[in-house]
Amino acid sequence: NKGIAVFTSGGDAQGMNSAVRAVVRMGIYVGAKVYFIKEGYQGMVDGGDNIVEANWSSVSGIIHKGGTIIGSSRCKEFRERAGRLKAAKNLILLGISNLVVIGGDGSLTGANLFRQDWPELVAELASKGDITPEQAIKFSHLNIVGMVGSIDNDFCGTDMTIGTDSALHRIIEAVDAIAATAYSHQRTFIMEVMGRHCGYLAVVTALTTEADYVFYPENPPPVDWPEKICKKLSQERESGQRLNIIIVSEGAIDREGNPITAEMIREVVVTNLKQDTRITVLGHVQRGGSPSAFDRVLGCRMGAEAVMAVLEATPETEACVVSLDGNQAVRLPLMACVEKTQAVAKAMADKQWELAVQLRGRS
Ligand code: ADP
Repeated sequence: NKGIAVFTSGGDAQGMNSAVRAVVRMGIYVGAKVYFIKEGYQGMVDGGDNIVEANWSSVSGIIHKGGTIIGSSRCKEFRERAGRLKAAKNLILLGISNLVVIGGDGSLTGANLFRQDWPELVAELASKGDITPEQAIKFSHLNIVGMVGSIDNDFCGTDMTIGTDSALHRIIEAVDAIAATAYSHQRTFIMEVMGRHCGYLAVVTALTTEADYVFYPENPPPVDWPEKICKKLSQERESGQRLNIIIVSEGAIDREGNPITAEMIREVVVTNLKQDTRITVLGHVQRGGSPSAFDRVLGCRMGAEAVMAVLEATPETEACVVSLDGNQAVRLPLMACVEKTQAVAKAMADKQWELAVQLRGRS
Protein backbone atom coordinates (compact mmCIF):
# COMPACT_ATOMS: atom_id res chain seq x y z
CA ASN A 1 0.00 0.00 0.00
CA LYS A 2 2.14 2.85 -1.30
CA GLY A 3 1.83 6.38 0.11
CA ILE A 4 1.83 8.93 -2.71
CA ALA A 5 1.67 12.68 -2.16
CA VAL A 6 0.79 15.14 -4.88
CA PHE A 7 1.48 18.88 -4.78
CA THR A 8 1.59 21.92 -7.03
CA SER A 9 4.47 24.38 -6.78
CA GLY A 10 5.73 27.63 -8.30
CA GLY A 11 3.56 29.56 -10.78
CA ASP A 12 0.04 28.21 -11.19
CA ALA A 13 -1.32 27.09 -14.56
CA GLN A 14 -4.71 26.01 -15.87
CA GLY A 15 -4.94 22.23 -16.06
CA MET A 16 -3.08 21.60 -12.80
CA ASN A 17 -6.37 20.56 -11.18
CA SER A 18 -6.95 18.02 -13.88
CA ALA A 19 -3.50 16.53 -13.21
CA VAL A 20 -4.11 16.48 -9.43
CA ARG A 21 -7.46 14.78 -9.98
CA ALA A 22 -5.93 12.12 -12.20
CA VAL A 23 -3.18 11.37 -9.67
CA VAL A 24 -5.70 11.00 -6.85
CA ARG A 25 -8.11 8.81 -8.76
CA MET A 26 -5.52 6.66 -10.50
CA GLY A 27 -3.68 6.31 -7.19
CA ILE A 28 -6.81 5.16 -5.37
CA TYR A 29 -7.68 2.87 -8.27
CA VAL A 30 -4.35 1.05 -7.98
CA GLY A 31 -4.68 0.76 -4.21
CA ALA A 32 -2.34 3.52 -3.05
CA LYS A 33 -2.97 5.99 -0.23
CA VAL A 34 -2.92 9.42 -1.86
CA TYR A 35 -2.23 12.64 0.01
CA PHE A 36 -2.53 16.27 -0.95
CA ILE A 37 0.25 18.55 0.15
CA LYS A 38 -1.27 22.02 0.26
CA GLU A 39 0.70 25.18 -0.61
CA GLY A 40 3.57 23.34 -2.33
CA TYR A 41 6.88 22.95 -0.50
CA GLN A 42 5.70 25.32 2.24
CA GLY A 43 3.00 22.83 3.20
CA MET A 44 5.53 20.00 3.12
CA VAL A 45 7.85 21.88 5.49
CA ASP A 46 5.04 23.06 7.80
CA GLY A 47 3.23 19.69 7.86
CA GLY A 48 0.14 19.42 10.09
CA ASP A 49 -3.12 20.18 8.29
CA ASN A 50 -1.20 20.88 5.10
CA ILE A 51 -0.79 17.18 4.36
CA VAL A 52 -4.13 15.39 4.19
CA GLU A 53 -5.33 12.15 2.72
CA ALA A 54 -7.41 12.61 -0.43
CA ASN A 55 -10.41 10.54 -1.38
CA TRP A 56 -12.30 9.98 -4.62
CA SER A 57 -14.72 12.85 -4.02
CA SER A 58 -12.14 15.37 -2.83
CA VAL A 59 -11.29 15.91 -6.51
CA SER A 60 -14.88 16.05 -7.78
CA GLY A 61 -15.88 19.23 -9.56
CA ILE A 62 -12.37 20.63 -10.01
CA ILE A 63 -11.43 19.71 -13.59
CA HIS A 64 -13.01 22.89 -14.99
CA LYS A 65 -11.35 25.23 -12.50
CA GLY A 66 -8.31 27.36 -13.27
CA GLY A 67 -5.38 27.68 -10.85
CA THR A 68 -4.77 24.91 -8.35
CA ILE A 69 -7.25 24.01 -5.61
CA ILE A 70 -4.50 22.66 -3.35
CA GLY A 71 -2.59 25.93 -3.47
CA SER A 72 0.92 26.76 -4.60
CA SER A 73 3.68 28.84 -3.13
CA ARG A 74 7.30 29.81 -3.30
CA CYS A 75 9.14 28.48 -0.26
CA LYS A 76 12.52 29.80 0.90
CA GLU A 77 12.87 27.26 3.70
CA PHE A 78 12.87 24.33 1.30
CA ARG A 79 15.95 25.74 -0.40
CA GLU A 80 17.83 25.14 2.88
CA ARG A 81 18.73 21.70 4.17
CA ALA A 82 16.98 22.41 7.49
CA GLY A 83 13.71 22.98 5.64
CA ARG A 84 14.11 19.76 3.68
CA LEU A 85 14.83 17.88 6.93
CA LYS A 86 11.51 19.06 8.38
CA ALA A 87 9.74 18.10 5.15
CA ALA A 88 11.29 14.59 5.18
CA LYS A 89 10.16 14.04 8.78
CA ASN A 90 6.58 15.13 7.98
CA LEU A 91 6.43 12.76 5.01
CA ILE A 92 7.93 9.72 6.72
CA LEU A 93 5.65 10.04 9.76
CA LEU A 94 2.71 9.78 7.35
CA GLY A 95 4.23 6.86 5.44
CA ILE A 96 4.94 8.86 2.28
CA SER A 97 8.00 8.17 0.14
CA ASN A 98 6.53 8.87 -3.30
CA LEU A 99 6.07 12.41 -4.53
CA VAL A 100 4.30 13.66 -7.61
CA VAL A 101 5.27 17.28 -8.22
CA ILE A 102 3.49 19.56 -10.65
CA GLY A 103 5.47 22.75 -11.24
CA GLY A 104 8.06 24.54 -13.31
CA ASP A 105 11.79 23.83 -13.63
CA GLY A 106 12.50 25.40 -10.20
CA SER A 107 10.09 23.06 -8.44
CA LEU A 108 11.46 20.05 -10.30
CA THR A 109 15.04 21.02 -9.43
CA GLY A 110 14.04 21.27 -5.77
CA ALA A 111 12.44 17.82 -5.93
CA ASN A 112 15.55 16.29 -7.41
CA LEU A 113 17.74 17.85 -4.75
CA PHE A 114 15.41 16.49 -2.08
CA ARG A 115 15.75 13.04 -3.58
CA GLN A 116 19.54 13.28 -3.58
CA ASP A 117 19.57 14.47 0.06
CA TRP A 118 17.01 11.92 1.20
CA PRO A 119 19.31 9.11 2.48
CA GLU A 120 21.26 11.60 4.63
CA LEU A 121 18.07 13.24 5.87
CA VAL A 122 16.63 9.85 6.84
CA ALA A 123 19.84 8.89 8.67
CA GLU A 124 19.82 12.17 10.60
CA LEU A 125 16.14 11.81 11.57
CA ALA A 126 16.81 8.24 12.76
CA SER A 127 19.89 9.24 14.76
CA LYS A 128 17.90 11.98 16.50
CA GLY A 129 15.08 9.55 17.29
CA ASP A 130 12.56 11.51 15.18
CA ILE A 131 11.79 8.35 13.24
CA THR A 132 12.25 4.69 14.21
CA PRO A 133 15.00 2.45 12.74
CA GLU A 134 12.20 0.48 11.03
CA GLN A 135 10.89 3.65 9.39
CA ALA A 136 14.42 4.54 8.31
CA ILE A 137 14.70 1.21 6.51
CA LYS A 138 11.18 1.19 5.07
CA PHE A 139 11.44 4.75 3.72
CA SER A 140 15.10 4.70 2.74
CA HIS A 141 14.34 5.74 -0.82
CA LEU A 142 12.30 8.66 -2.20
CA ASN A 143 10.58 8.37 -5.58
CA ILE A 144 9.96 11.52 -7.55
CA VAL A 145 7.80 11.94 -10.62
CA GLY A 146 7.35 15.39 -12.14
CA MET A 147 4.86 17.03 -14.46
CA VAL A 148 5.41 20.46 -15.94
CA GLY A 149 2.76 23.06 -15.21
CA SER A 150 3.64 26.35 -16.88
CA ILE A 151 1.76 28.62 -19.25
CA ASP A 152 5.04 29.60 -20.95
CA ASN A 153 5.81 26.26 -22.68
CA ASP A 154 9.39 26.82 -21.62
CA PHE A 155 10.46 23.31 -20.57
CA CYS A 156 12.75 21.06 -22.62
CA GLY A 157 11.53 17.55 -23.25
CA THR A 158 7.81 18.11 -23.62
CA ASP A 159 5.92 19.39 -26.65
CA MET A 160 3.44 21.22 -24.44
CA THR A 161 3.42 22.14 -20.77
CA ILE A 162 0.17 22.04 -18.80
CA GLY A 163 -1.49 25.47 -19.07
CA THR A 164 -0.02 26.77 -22.33
CA ASP A 165 -3.02 25.94 -24.48
CA SER A 166 -5.47 27.59 -22.07
CA ALA A 167 -3.30 30.70 -21.84
CA LEU A 168 -3.32 30.91 -25.64
CA HIS A 169 -7.12 30.70 -25.66
CA ARG A 170 -7.27 33.58 -23.18
CA ILE A 171 -4.78 35.67 -25.16
CA ILE A 172 -6.45 35.09 -28.50
CA GLU A 173 -9.89 36.01 -27.12
CA ALA A 174 -8.40 39.25 -25.81
CA VAL A 175 -6.61 40.09 -29.07
CA ASP A 176 -9.76 39.38 -31.11
CA ALA A 177 -11.78 41.64 -28.81
CA ILE A 178 -9.23 44.42 -29.10
CA ALA A 179 -8.98 44.02 -32.86
CA ALA A 180 -12.70 44.84 -33.10
CA THR A 181 -12.33 48.15 -31.29
CA ALA A 182 -9.04 48.91 -33.06
CA TYR A 183 -10.83 48.42 -36.38
CA SER A 184 -13.60 50.84 -35.44
CA HIS A 185 -11.20 53.64 -34.49
CA GLN A 186 -8.36 52.82 -36.90
CA ARG A 187 -5.99 52.32 -34.00
CA THR A 188 -2.73 50.48 -33.50
CA PHE A 189 -2.59 48.16 -30.51
CA ILE A 190 0.51 46.82 -28.84
CA MET A 191 -0.29 43.74 -26.76
CA GLU A 192 2.18 42.43 -24.21
CA VAL A 193 2.00 38.71 -23.47
CA MET A 194 3.79 36.58 -20.86
CA GLY A 195 6.57 34.06 -21.47
CA ARG A 196 9.66 35.23 -19.54
CA HIS A 197 12.59 34.05 -21.73
CA CYS A 198 10.36 31.95 -24.00
CA GLY A 199 8.61 33.50 -26.98
CA TYR A 200 6.19 30.64 -27.64
CA LEU A 201 3.06 32.51 -26.48
CA ALA A 202 4.02 35.61 -28.47
CA VAL A 203 4.81 33.72 -31.69
CA VAL A 204 1.67 31.55 -31.62
CA THR A 205 -0.46 34.61 -30.79
CA ALA A 206 1.03 36.54 -33.70
CA LEU A 207 0.43 33.64 -36.09
CA THR A 208 -3.15 33.08 -35.03
CA THR A 209 -4.31 36.71 -34.86
CA GLU A 210 -2.76 38.02 -38.07
CA ALA A 211 -0.56 40.41 -36.12
CA ASP A 212 1.59 42.79 -38.15
CA TYR A 213 4.73 42.48 -36.06
CA VAL A 214 6.00 40.36 -33.19
CA PHE A 215 8.87 40.89 -30.76
CA TYR A 216 10.14 37.84 -28.87
CA PRO A 217 13.37 36.97 -27.09
CA GLU A 218 14.75 34.14 -29.25
CA ASN A 219 14.92 36.31 -32.34
CA PRO A 220 15.89 39.88 -31.47
CA PRO A 221 15.10 42.27 -34.30
CA PRO A 222 17.80 44.03 -36.38
CA VAL A 223 19.02 47.40 -35.04
CA ASP A 224 16.93 49.26 -37.61
CA TRP A 225 13.69 47.72 -36.28
CA PRO A 226 12.09 51.16 -35.77
CA GLU A 227 12.31 51.91 -39.53
CA LYS A 228 11.25 48.35 -40.43
CA ILE A 229 8.16 48.35 -38.21
CA CYS A 230 7.09 51.81 -39.41
CA LYS A 231 7.45 50.74 -43.03
CA LYS A 232 5.41 47.60 -42.42
CA LEU A 233 2.65 49.41 -40.52
CA SER A 234 2.29 52.15 -43.12
CA GLN A 235 2.24 49.60 -45.96
CA GLU A 236 -0.64 47.83 -44.24
CA ARG A 237 -2.59 51.08 -43.78
CA GLU A 238 -1.93 52.11 -47.38
CA SER A 239 -3.30 48.80 -48.60
CA GLY A 240 -6.58 49.54 -46.78
CA GLN A 241 -6.07 47.90 -43.39
CA ARG A 242 -7.85 49.89 -40.66
CA LEU A 243 -5.86 48.60 -37.70
CA ASN A 244 -2.45 47.31 -36.69
CA ILE A 245 -1.67 44.73 -34.05
CA ILE A 246 1.79 44.33 -32.59
CA ILE A 247 2.57 41.50 -30.18
CA VAL A 248 5.43 41.89 -27.72
CA SER A 249 6.64 39.19 -25.41
CA GLU A 250 7.41 40.37 -21.86
CA GLY A 251 10.96 39.07 -22.39
CA ALA A 252 11.57 40.75 -25.77
CA ILE A 253 15.10 42.07 -26.20
CA ASP A 254 17.32 43.74 -28.77
CA ARG A 255 20.59 42.32 -30.13
CA GLU A 256 22.49 43.81 -27.19
CA GLY A 257 20.19 41.97 -24.78
CA ASN A 258 18.41 45.17 -23.65
CA PRO A 259 14.64 44.97 -23.14
CA ILE A 260 12.30 46.12 -25.89
CA THR A 261 9.17 47.27 -24.11
CA ALA A 262 5.66 48.06 -25.32
CA GLU A 263 6.25 51.70 -24.33
CA MET A 264 9.39 51.89 -26.54
CA ILE A 265 7.46 50.51 -29.50
CA ARG A 266 4.59 52.94 -28.90
CA GLU A 267 7.03 55.85 -28.86
CA VAL A 268 8.46 54.78 -32.24
CA VAL A 269 5.03 54.39 -33.84
CA VAL A 270 3.58 57.62 -32.44
CA THR A 271 6.64 59.73 -33.24
CA ASN A 272 7.04 58.49 -36.80
CA LEU A 273 3.53 57.61 -37.95
CA LYS A 274 1.31 59.69 -35.63
CA GLN A 275 -0.99 56.69 -35.33
CA ASP A 276 -3.40 56.50 -32.39
CA THR A 277 -1.50 53.77 -30.53
CA ARG A 278 -2.56 52.00 -27.33
CA ILE A 279 -0.88 49.43 -25.11
CA THR A 280 -2.62 46.49 -23.46
CA VAL A 281 -0.69 44.39 -20.98
CA LEU A 282 -2.63 41.17 -20.60
CA GLY A 283 -0.93 40.18 -17.33
CA HIS A 284 -2.49 37.58 -15.07
CA VAL A 285 -5.63 37.26 -17.19
CA GLN A 286 -3.48 34.79 -19.14
CA ARG A 287 -3.27 32.48 -16.15
CA GLY A 288 -6.96 32.80 -15.34
CA GLY A 289 -10.20 31.27 -16.52
CA SER A 290 -11.07 27.68 -17.09
CA PRO A 291 -8.65 25.21 -18.67
CA SER A 292 -9.11 24.28 -22.33
CA ALA A 293 -10.15 20.77 -23.36
CA PHE A 294 -6.54 20.13 -24.40
CA ASP A 295 -5.15 21.04 -20.98
CA ARG A 296 -7.80 18.98 -19.20
CA VAL A 297 -6.91 15.93 -21.28
CA LEU A 298 -3.19 16.62 -20.93
CA GLY A 299 -3.55 16.79 -17.13
CA CYS A 300 -5.54 13.53 -17.08
CA ARG A 301 -3.05 11.65 -19.21
CA MET A 302 0.02 12.94 -17.45
CA GLY A 303 -1.45 12.37 -13.99
CA ALA A 304 -2.36 8.78 -14.80
CA GLU A 305 1.09 8.13 -16.29
CA ALA A 306 2.74 9.69 -13.23
CA VAL A 307 1.03 7.18 -10.95
CA MET A 308 2.13 4.31 -13.20
CA ALA A 309 5.69 5.64 -13.02
CA VAL A 310 5.50 5.72 -9.21
CA LEU A 311 4.19 2.16 -9.09
CA GLU A 312 6.93 0.83 -11.34
CA ALA A 313 9.77 2.75 -9.68
CA THR A 314 12.56 0.87 -7.93
CA PRO A 315 15.42 2.35 -5.86
CA GLU A 316 17.51 2.25 -9.04
CA THR A 317 14.97 4.20 -11.12
CA GLU A 318 15.94 7.79 -11.92
CA ALA A 319 13.48 10.57 -11.08
CA CYS A 320 11.40 11.15 -14.18
CA VAL A 321 9.24 13.82 -15.72
CA VAL A 322 6.10 12.86 -17.62
CA SER A 323 6.16 14.61 -20.98
CA LEU A 324 4.17 14.85 -24.17
CA ASP A 325 5.98 13.53 -27.24
CA GLY A 326 3.81 13.78 -30.33
CA ASN A 327 0.59 12.44 -28.94
CA GLN A 328 2.19 10.12 -26.41
CA ALA A 329 2.75 10.55 -22.69
CA VAL A 330 6.36 9.49 -22.12
CA ARG A 331 8.76 9.40 -19.17
CA LEU A 332 12.06 11.24 -19.46
CA PRO A 333 14.91 11.62 -16.95
CA LEU A 334 13.95 14.62 -14.85
CA MET A 335 17.38 16.09 -14.25
CA ALA A 336 18.48 15.84 -17.89
CA CYS A 337 15.38 17.86 -18.89
CA VAL A 338 15.92 20.43 -16.14
CA GLU A 339 19.58 20.81 -17.13
CA LYS A 340 18.66 21.29 -20.77
CA THR A 341 16.07 23.89 -19.79
CA GLN A 342 18.70 25.72 -17.74
CA ALA A 343 21.15 25.48 -20.66
CA VAL A 344 18.55 27.26 -22.82
CA ALA A 345 18.30 30.06 -20.24
CA LYS A 346 22.10 30.34 -20.21
CA ALA A 347 22.32 30.41 -24.02
CA MET A 348 19.73 33.20 -24.03
CA ALA A 349 21.69 35.14 -21.41
CA ASP A 350 24.85 34.65 -23.52
CA LYS A 351 22.97 35.97 -26.58
CA GLN A 352 23.35 32.61 -28.33
CA TRP A 353 19.82 32.63 -29.64
CA GLU A 354 20.22 29.98 -32.32
CA LEU A 355 21.70 27.59 -29.79
CA ALA A 356 18.80 28.30 -27.42
CA VAL A 357 16.23 27.44 -30.10
CA GLN A 358 18.17 24.31 -31.07
CA LEU A 359 18.38 23.14 -27.46
CA ARG A 360 14.74 23.79 -26.80
CA GLY A 361 13.77 21.48 -29.64
CA ARG A 362 10.13 21.05 -30.52
CA SER A 363 8.51 22.75 -27.53
P1 ADP B 1 8.80 27.20 -10.85
O1 ADP B 1 8.67 25.82 -10.31
O2 ADP B 1 7.50 27.71 -11.43
O3 ADP B 1 9.97 27.34 -11.79
P2 ADP B 1 10.29 28.52 -8.70
O4 ADP B 1 11.57 28.56 -9.46
O5 ADP B 1 9.89 29.75 -7.94
O6 ADP B 1 9.03 28.18 -9.62
O7 ADP B 1 10.38 27.29 -7.67
C1 ADP B 1 9.29 27.00 -6.81
C2 ADP B 1 9.83 26.52 -5.49
O8 ADP B 1 10.62 25.34 -5.69
C3 ADP B 1 10.75 27.49 -4.76
O9 ADP B 1 10.05 28.46 -4.03
C4 ADP B 1 11.52 26.55 -3.85
O10 ADP B 1 10.76 26.23 -2.70
C5 ADP B 1 11.66 25.31 -4.71
N1 ADP B 1 12.97 25.34 -5.39
C6 ADP B 1 13.28 25.93 -6.57
N2 ADP B 1 14.60 25.77 -6.87
C7 ADP B 1 15.13 25.07 -5.83
C8 ADP B 1 16.44 24.59 -5.50
N3 ADP B 1 17.48 24.80 -6.33
N4 ADP B 1 16.60 23.91 -4.34
C9 ADP B 1 15.56 23.69 -3.51
N5 ADP B 1 14.31 24.12 -3.76
C10 ADP B 1 14.09 24.79 -4.88
